[in-house]
Amino acid sequence: MSGFLEIRHVSKSFYGVFALKDISFDIEKGSVHAVMGENGAGKSTLMKILGGVYQADKGEIFIRGEKQKLDSVQDARKAGISVIYQEFNLIPDLTVAENIFIIDTPKKTGLGLVDKKKQNENAKKLLESLKININPKVLVGNLSVSEKQMVEIAKALAHDSEIIIMDEPTAALNDDEVVSLCQMVRNLKEQGKTVIYISHRLKEVFDMADTVTVLRDGTYVATKPISELTENLIIKLMVGHEIDGSKARKSYVKREVVLKVKDLKKAGMFEDVSFELHKGEILGLAGLMGCGREEMLSALYGLIKADSGEIWMEGSRIQINSVKDAIHKGICFLTDDRKDSGILPLMSVQENMTMISIRNLRKKLGFYLRSQDELEQLNTMAGVMNIKYAEPSQKITFLSGGNQQKVLLGRNLLLQNKVFIMLEPTRGIDVGAKEEIYKLLRRLTQEGMGVLAVFSDMNELIQVCDRALVFWQGRITGEIEREEFNKEKILSYAAGKGRRKSCETVQV
Ligand code: ADP
Ligand code: MG
Repeated sequence: MSGFLEIRHVSKSFYGVFALKDISFDIEKGSVHAVMGENGAGKSTLMKILGGVYQADKGEIFIRGEKQKLDSVQDARKAGISVIYQEFNLIPDLTVAENIFIIDTPKKTGLGLVDKKKQNENAKKLLESLKININPKVLVGNLSVSEKQMVEIAKALAHDSEIIIMDEPTAALNDDEVVSLCQMVRNLKEQGKTVIYISHRLKEVFDMADTVTVLRDGTYVATKPISELTENLIIKLMVGHEIDGSKARKSYVKREVVLKVKDLKKAGMFEDVSFELHKGEILGLAGLMGCGREEMLSALYGLIKADSGEIWMEGSRIQINSVKDAIHKGICFLTDDRKDSGILPLMSVQENMTMISIRNLRKKLGFYLRSQDELEQLNTMAGVMNIKYAEPSQKITFLSGGNQQKVLLGRNLLLQNKVFIMLEPTRGIDVGAKEEIYKLLRRLTQEGMGVLAVFSDMNELIQVCDRALVFWQGRITGEIEREEFNKEKILSYAAGKGRRKSCETVQV
């Protein structure tokens, strides 16, 4: 045993599918160690194991040669490990100081009340030592994303952790904020802390990391000092072999334009967005978290309002100021969060399937749908889509994820929609059901619908889409036809390769 932090033979599966398989590597004390890999590579899962959130099925973690018990977040903290997760864990209604000391609150002797003054002083000292310029008395809800990030870091350091893990800390930050984060990581390193840093952004990694470990599909690929790596080499390690194109969709023959977007802009989210979507085409939107594609799609669906730009549907200019406008113009939207917004969990399969389609259409025309018609529709759809349910009145929440998704997609077949926006339509769905979802997608396009789809799994994007637009920092940086699809190309556009100014602007 040699390293400071040693990860040995760690495996973890979810519902029988490996998220991590026999991972072993070492992390040196006082280093900045980047962990890289495509979406779904297992990075966050590994970090959650180190942070005591998940327990490994197999394997061990050693610190200074001593085996660690990491059964809970408290255990991890005792072991000196703090994790700053992708999703923040701050409470907006509490102040900065209260959030930082949420666990070890200084108690006032006697009454057992919280000593606010002491808390604020401690927070101030801590923030100053980190060169973070935030007032400890401000409510967290009033902070910007990057300030929240800084508070998360301060919170992690309040426990005097030796090992700080940051899971994609810059995904939501702008250029200046990235620069201050890089600075912060350097400060931590100077103080002798060990930083495990997850990012897709090559530039940052080259600016900060001493060592890089690459994971791919839950397996360990390599650990190398940054001096032995180039951007291309990292991309190659992340991607592995090119995927088998045999399952890929046949070349799509372009039909007429159904949707045209011109110079669409929303300040701080996306700008200069112009593209055309054709009938029957599946246009994939690629890019990393925070690249602006989802915000752009939200604007097309009326969830947010663009500042400027034009949207054209079948040759006529349209205005989309609300979701109602979007639906009215024949745009539909499928989110990646079925539980939250897609399905009505307590309604039946039958009701979910036909609800937004027939029922609403008929209501508009002034009469209600008979249950019998609904049932017929369901039977037809279920047959077409191979949806498995016990009986039509079964609550949809008890169906498998794949079958739920089929219900959601299926009900769009019943509508006369023109453009279908979908975010991660196959997230959390097993391989078999995925194939069926692809088939359904093809069916939707055969009916002439144009599809705008976000897949964070690049293999899927390559398999399913006819063309891809790659977003980086709110702009389209690349357009790739299916014949030219390859992961390296997509990744380098998505990483803003050769374009990004980040840490190099600050020299220390
Ligand atoms: P990364 O952070 O590299 O993008 P993750 O660690 O989040 O990857 O995910 C690795 C794999 O584990 C993915 O296939 C993901 O779907 C799966 N996974 C992660 N967390 C869970 C969970 N709580 N339940 C089921 N599957 C999960
Ligand atoms: Mg992750």
